[in-house]
Amino acid sequence: MVKPVILTGVRSNEEPTLGNFLGAFTPMVEMQKKYAGDYQINMFVPDLHSFTTPIDHSNLKQNTLHNLKYFVAAGLDLDNSDTFLYRQSYIPAHSEMAWILDCFTYVGEMQRMTQFKEKSAEHAASVTMGLMNYPVLMAADILLYGAEYIPVGEDQFQHLEITRDIAMRFNNKFGDILVVPKSTADQMRFIQRDKGLRVRSLTNPAKKMSKSSEDEKSKICLSDNPSVARKKIMSATTDSLASVNFDWEKQPGVTNLLKIKSLLSGRSQDDINAEWVGCERYGDLKISVADTVEEFLTNFHLKYKSITDEELIYKLEKSEEKMRKIAGETLLRVQKAVGLR
Ligand code: ATP
Ligand code: MG
Repeated sequence: MVKPVILTGVRSNEEPTLGNFLGAFTPMVEMQKKYAGDYQINMFVPDLHSFTTPIDHSNLKQNTLHNLKYFVAAGLDLDNSDTFLYRQSYIPAHSEMAWILDCFTYVGEMQRMTQFKEKSAEHAASVTMGLMNYPVLMAADILLYGAEYIPVGEDQFQHLEITRDIAMRFNNKFGDILVVPKSTADQMRFIQRDKGLRVRSLTNPAKKMSKSSEDEKSKICLSDNPSVARKKIMSATTDSLASVNFDWEKQPGVTNLLKIKSLLSGRSQDDINAEWVGCERYGDLKISVADTVEEFLTNFHLKYKSITDEELIYKLEKSEEKMRKIAGETLLRVQKAVGLR
């Protein structure tokens, strides 16, 4: 029996933070636990997407393995037979499919994409075809596998909608060739992500923690030495109210610490709050959170080190072989439809 496909991409261009871990890695591992068995889970590294804007190419390949190891260290089960882990560029059908879909996509549609408008303003000196074309490659990533569920953030809704438009346009012209992904409303109903979770910056808790931030003290990177991370927590910005309360509006700094404590310790937020609310000494709360962060990173690094390149590459190659077959079949249907075969 063919299982419905959930597809998710894992970008790998910068060093992830504790925010990425709690907001993206953990939910993905939970998704595997919840849906494997009934669904096929395609987790791929969109390596062809990673240089739509300039990057340092010398470590692209290594970064891919590095970031995938983080997922395994976060609990992703490599042995799960419903989960496929693959690198986009190892399956040539992605590029071939993107070209064909390009010829059924209008320039105006791509120019209207919010992300294109924003990024092309940001990188005005080098707006490449790749940057504009990226949603079509994304459509290929999805349509090649007949994926119905693509859990993405709000910033990707527009690209998901264009994928549906392209698939429907293609089907209208050539018959029932492509599986149209579920609408964004259905996607959201299906994967009830903790949309609200935003770990805040440690130096400016009004903002979220971001891996691209140049302020090193604002973020805990997953590669941070545990004792360095400890110092960052100890110097986190709080407030002058001298009373711990879980309140994102009035006390985002201490609330962020309470949240981190709860998520990393696996204890409920109510439990943590009951222990700390009303406490006047922020230093004590910081010591407690720093202990937890330090312990988390120490264990996380141990797990990371225990994962070998060999086991990861074995999983990748096995998945890629299977994916080349599936993607190749869809591509052939499309090639036949447009008269190439
Ligand atoms: P950048 O600064 O480059 O935008 P980022 O840290 O915001 O980096 P993204 O690559 O934009 O990371 O997002 C990767 C994933 O991590 C997304 O699923 C996003 O929702 C999640 N994420 C990013 N930052 C946080 C955060 N502070 N708290 C929780 N989740 C986060
Ligand atoms: Mg971001």
